[in-house]
Amino acid sequence: MLTTPHSMAGAAIGALLPNPIVVIPLSIGSHFVLDSIPHWQETLAPYIPTKKTYIRIPIDIALAITLVWLVAHWQPNHISTIWLGATMANAPDLDVIMVLVPRLKQGLLKKYWDWHCKIQQETSSMWGVLTQLIVIAASLAVVYETR
Ligand SMILES: [Zn+2]
Repeated sequence: MLTTPHSMAGAAIGALLPNPIVVIPLSIGSHFVLDSIPHWQETLAPYIPTKKTYIRIPIDIALAITLVWLVAHWQPNHISTIWLGATMANAPDLDVIMVLVPRLKQGLLKKYWDWHCKIQQETSSMWGVLTQLIVIAASLAVVYETR
């Protein structure tokens, strides 16, 4: 799943359960749940970056930061756990570094990479955008309603 829905799910966790000991594992766990929901991505396994990837990534990150900033504004007393949740919800995707540095893909890191790839339910069909929009909208609604 893209950065923005992961960020929003983590931000919602950080807003609803503002305790870092709870936010960190739940946000990381939310990552794998969302990856297993069908979702659109511009490049599928083995994730060779394309021109679209280099357009999508900055837009995705800018949108994620903007929306997390928005929900942090709605719940300023939970700002640190909102940002913590958003960050930790994306941490499992740091394995993408192995695409750029393939020699890292060995041992335990390769096992994690293989498992992370295996749970993906990616599609190049545009309906896979809808599932991500629903995650974003639901997260925004939950944080807005509990402010
Ligand atoms: Zn992932």
